[in-house]
Amino acid sequence: MAKEKISAQALIEIETRLGAHNYKPLDVVLVRGEGVWVWDIDGNRYLDCLAAYSAVNQGHCHPKIRAALVEQASRLSLTSRAFRNEQLPLFYEEICALTNSHKVLPMNSGAEAVETAIKAVRKWGYEVKGVPEDQAEVIVCENGFHGRTIAIVGFSTDPAARQGFGPFAPGFPIVAFGDADALEAAITPNTVAFLVEPIQGEAGVIIPPEGYLKRIREVCSRHNIMLVLDEIQTGLGRTGKLFAEEHEGIEADLTLVGKALSGGYYPISAVLSNTEVLGVLKPGEHGSTFGGNPLACAVARAAMRVLIEEGMIENAGKQGAYFLEELGKLRTNQVRDVRGSGLMIALELDEAVGGARRYSEALMKLGLLCKETHKDTLRFAPPLVITREQVDWALETIDKVLRAG
Ligand SMILES: *Cc1c(COP(=O)(O)O)cnc(C)c1O
Repeated sequence: MAKEKISAQALIEIETRLGAHNYKPLDVVLVRGEGVWVWDIDGNRYLDCLAAYSAVNQGHCHPKIRAALVEQASRLSLTSRAFRNEQLPLFYEEICALTNSHKVLPMNSGAEAVETAIKAVRKWGYEVKGVPEDQAEVIVCENGFHGRTIAIVGFSTDPAARQGFGPFAPGFPIVAFGDADALEAAITPNTVAFLVEPIQGEAGVIIPPEGYLKRIREVCSRHNIMLVLDEIQTGLGRTGKLFAEEHEGIEADLTLVGKALSGGYYPISAVLSNTEVLGVLKPGEHGSTFGGNPLACAVARAAMRVLIEEGMIENAGKQGAYFLEELGKLRTNQVRDVRGSGLMIALELDEAVGGARRYSEALMKLGLLCKETHKDTLRFAPPLVITREQVDWALETIDKVLRAG
């Protein structure tokens, strides 16, 4: 007799019973993905409008990234940085050429890239800028999101992220996002860096006023502090440019990438910078067992290559502009705001509708996966390979759900 297939309900029950409840996922059990599509265990197909929080910009299971993974996995997976491997230098060369960087430090998760950058700018502050020991300050923004480590949640302003996790590290003054004057007012002789997302993703796709990036670039340069842009979500094509900083023609001193750096195949992140800052780190002062491993590097090389070769960044700009414009036309009295950049799009519902969760559940029933962020906002961020027809289908589906109320 054929073995009976385990049901979605049974799997959800196991997960709920055995797993920590630090997430509240939609009740859809996915088993397969291809491009913009994912399938659940019962064979239903969905348009993925979350793309694993922008880690799957290149689309699910991109065949060229998969081939690179399989090829490298069958030869060598991990050496540790105690030895050298052939993939790491080639990864360095290709990511530097792509991003105009001079130095790279590879890690695994986004949060680790953030931690690495904080360590590097603090050390730069002490050794190069001359800040007195243990006095370095890194200014951060209200409602920012940079990950989940103790240092990072310590400077979060989201009560859910920090409540109950203290004590926290000092040295992270918080200023309003989008306000360059507030940044300048918070700078002291001990300030070493300003850490900010060019567009706040987890806060609900909050786009700063035009000119903000240019102004913070100018303020940071004038006060000799490092501008650290967290492009872990906005980077690698999401907003229709390789990096969101390009929308205002600026260059950060340190740029953080993660998520789509592997096209969703593998955790890999990196700090991109110049010799002055990353040069302060000497052997033994920082590291990671898995950071820079050959499998991650081979996957990242392929993930960067397809992003460029297949025109995904241009497509994000084109389809994103269309998606946003058409979404704006669906306004009903339930919709409070529609905003976005490239394929990073948010629809904020009126408070009176009582939260976005039931909208993401209704969209799921119609075959579109997205996730509410905070209480009232739906975020649409599909893989960058989405076509015009697929955007039209998403719009029709969103329209249906809004009409149903
Ligand atoms: C996702 C994200 C991070 C954290 O990345 P992890 O891989 O989850 O640690 C940091 N910053 C931004 C802007 C993010 O979107």
